[in-house]
Amino acid sequence: MNKISKLAVLTSGGDAPGMNPCIRAVVRTALYNGIEVVGVRQGYKGLIENDMYDMDKRSVSNILNLGGTILKTARCLPFKEDEGMATAYKHLKERGIDALVVIGGDGTFTGALRFSRKFPDIAVMGVPGTIDNDLYGSTYTLGFDTATNTVIQAIDKIRDTADAHDRLFFIEVMGRDSGAIALRAGISCGAEAILLPEKQTAVADLIKNLKEGKSNKKSSSIVIVAEGDKNGGVYDVAKAVQQEVKDYDVKVTILGHLQRGGSPSSFDRILGSRLGFAAVNALIAGESQKMVGLQANHILLTSLDDALNNHEFKLEADLLQMADILSI
Ligand code: ATP
Repeated sequence: MNKISKLAVLTSGGDAPGMNPCIRAVVRTALYNGIEVVGVRQGYKGLIENDMYDMDKRSVSNILNLGGTILKTARCLPFKEDEGMATAYKHLKERGIDALVVIGGDGTFTGALRFSRKFPDIAVMGVPGTIDNDLYGSTYTLGFDTATNTVIQAIDKIRDTADAHDRLFFIEVMGRDSGAIALRAGISCGAEAILLPEKQTAVADLIKNLKEGKSNKKSSSIVIVAEGDKNGGVYDVAKAVQQEVKDYDVKVTILGHLQRGGSPSSFDRILGSRLGFAAVNALIAGESQKMVGLQANHILLTSLDDALNNHEFKLEADLLQMADILSI
């Protein structure tokens, strides 16, 4: 077993609700085990710019309910360069830090793995914190549940007005490479169609389905379009449909950044707490270059290499099929 005496924690990439409960768990689990904790501001940028501070038990008081991240996050291009990594390493060593917990998505993990391979004397542990739910090794990532609930609340409101006016709404949700939010929100809100990056939907089929819905006396329709859908974006799809489905008044709503904000759900508070707790315990057990993740309600370790490169991760085919059948 490696003895960890001081660890640093950072949040990186896109913010995700649940990062704060996770930071709290990392800090308090480390302190409980006699490990000092340093908070790094703005992800890898803070490592390079030496923007870090000592954290104590009270540094994480009353943050369980806060969205965003008290450590701030950033996208940091210099960390992709050898020089940036060397500067980060120097600052960590100067502070006597021997382990790093990184909370973020696949970009964050790519950086962490490269860094750890270059400087293996600093152990790294990843926590999947991204609303995209697109990492192999964790059925759910931190922030996905809250973001999906936020989307559902917004779509429910849109459904009210869509129904009142017999309108067809196209709603764009986040997910450049992942249709996870679109799929879950689509099932939860009874969307008439869900357009995802993982599955090509022909616009002609979409038009046919919407026409059928109208002839089956549907008074409103909702089509959820993930950002990464391959039909050219929500406005293009809406335009193509409006030309063919004349009886509907077509509207477009882009939910945008509101999807990232808000107080974490119970699920994300508990998941963040479990993952943060497990990350520190894994480091204490001498693990490195791994990710903690939720699998069948257990917290298990996956190598960062597998988490990044195992492309078996897919959206559940049964959910896709069910969504189609239930929305007739
Ligand atoms: P999200 O899934 O929410 O977008 P993410 O962690 O994937 O989160 P990115 O912006 O892709 O977000 O990555 C976060 C940071 O990780 C980057 O700004 C950069 O500092 C670092 N990073 C990404 N790719 C690499 C890489 N190849 N080498 C070193 N560092 C990297």
